[in-house]
Amino acid sequence: MRVWIDQDLCTGDGLCVDHCADVFVQLEDGIAYVAEGGRPLNDPGGSSSLAVVVTRDVRRVIDAAEDCPGECIFIEIDTPSDAELDATVTPRVAARIKLRDEAA
Ligand code: SF4
Repeated sequence: MRVWIDQDLCTGDGLCVDHCADVFVQLEDGIAYVAEGGRPLNDPGGSSSLAVVVTRDVRRVIDAAEDCPGECIFIEIDTPSDAELDATVTPRVAARIKLRDEAA
C-alpha cells in the first residue's frame, strides 16, 4: 500500500500525524507530508511523492484518511500483494483509494 497527500487541500490540523507519526509529518510550513523511513517526501510532494506503508501502519493510515478534514489523503492499494490487508473502509474514504496493479 502507498499513500500521498494533496498539500493544496491540507488544513494543517495535524490529525494524520496523531494517527500515524511514522507515515505523516508536519513541516515548518504547517502542512502535512508523507514520510518513508523517517524521511519526509516533500520534494515535490503531492501525487509525485508516494510513501510505501508497512503492514503495521496500514490500519492507522486508513483511519487517518477517514478522519482527514481536508479529504486530501490518497491511498493506492497494490494488487495482488495487498489483498490480505485489513483495508475495510467507509464510502467517504473509498473515493480516495485507487487499485494499483503491480503487473501493469
Ligand atoms: S489530517 Fe489531512 S488536512 Fe489534517 S494535516 Fe493531515 S493531511 Fe492535512
